[in-house]
Amino acid sequence: MGIEEFIAALPKAELHVHLVGAASLDTVLELSRRHSRTLVPKDRAELARYYEFTDFPHFINVYSAVNKLVTTPDDVRTMLLGLAHDLAANNVRYAEVTVSAIAHFPYGTGPEALSEALVDGRRRALAEHGVELAWIFDVPMPSDLREGYSTLEYVLDQRPEGTVGLGLAGLEAPYPRAGFKAAFQEARAAGLRSLPHAGETTGPEEIWAALEDLCAERIGHGVSAVDDDRLLKHLVETGIPLEVSLTSNVCTKAVASLAEHSLPRLLDAGVTVTLNTDDPGMFGTNLNREYLLAHEVFGLGRPELAELARNAARAAFCSEQTRSGLLKGIDAVERAAAEQ
Ligand SMILES: [Zn+2]
Repeated sequence: MGIEEFIAALPKAELHVHLVGAASLDTVLELSRRHSRTLVPKDRAELARYYEFTDFPHFINVYSAVNKLVTTPDDVRTMLLGLAHDLAANNVRYAEVTVSAIAHFPYGTGPEALSEALVDGRRRALAEHGVELAWIFDVPMPSDLREGYSTLEYVLDQRPEGTVGLGLAGLEAPYPRAGFKAAFQEARAAGLRSLPHAGETTGPEEIWAALEDLCAERIGHGVSAVDDDRLLKHLVETGIPLEVSLTSNVCTKAVASLAEHSLPRLLDAGVTVTLNTDDPGMFGTNLNREYLLAHEVFGLGRPELAELARNAARAAFCSEQTRSGLLKGIDAVERAAAEQ
């Protein structure tokens, strides 16, 4: 079994993927043609150029423009079914999808309509593509505290089927994690998981804030943890997983190059790492490719790649049945590869 075949065969969980950023070029073209007044390109080559980011703030601007294409529940369903199709093609059986609920409200999809579209899309994703979807509702930065509470209010009020947690994404430096302490406290009291991004474009101090102030149960990115030995030790001791996205960090210029990515140092330190795509449509990647990069650039072999897949299954907030299905499937692929 070749390495690509091995990666494709691994049943996977994906824990860090944003609904709008995941939309493939085909899906975005469908929506930009559906809503002809948008500034988002309607031509494939132009759209690909539009997705060449100069830095993280530029990425956020482009993301906001594509987000405005989602104006009806049908647009939400189009994105969800496109995502489920792409996840299935990568043998992803379970995904926690980050949805920026409040970013859709000003453009025509209200709270009830969004929830209905999510529940309907979730049902169809399972029936038509065999992919189980769950939701993380994030406070997208730039936002303010009020919007942090609007997100929480939406989640507590609607809690669409499949809801697992509250997230915090986007620009980090101007919006210290600690400022959202009360909102996350309230979310946790209501049984939601704390799943913020931290240390993507900032140093270890924001990861500490996510852990101590927001009681994070996983860290989105967290790649700057390598700059703080005490933090690495803490992550190893607590087993709190990082959601690492290789291509994303290069595309948004969060790291200068793939070769300089902190993945190997995190693994050497013994941190629990999961691999994710973040925004696969915008970054031209998919989960199989991220595993392949870990092999090609950092020399991870079959046992290490299988362990990364196990980490994601263990770190997922899915049912025990889904988890054991994933873990058994990973074992079976390793056995089949060994017997060849
Ligand atoms: Zn993200």
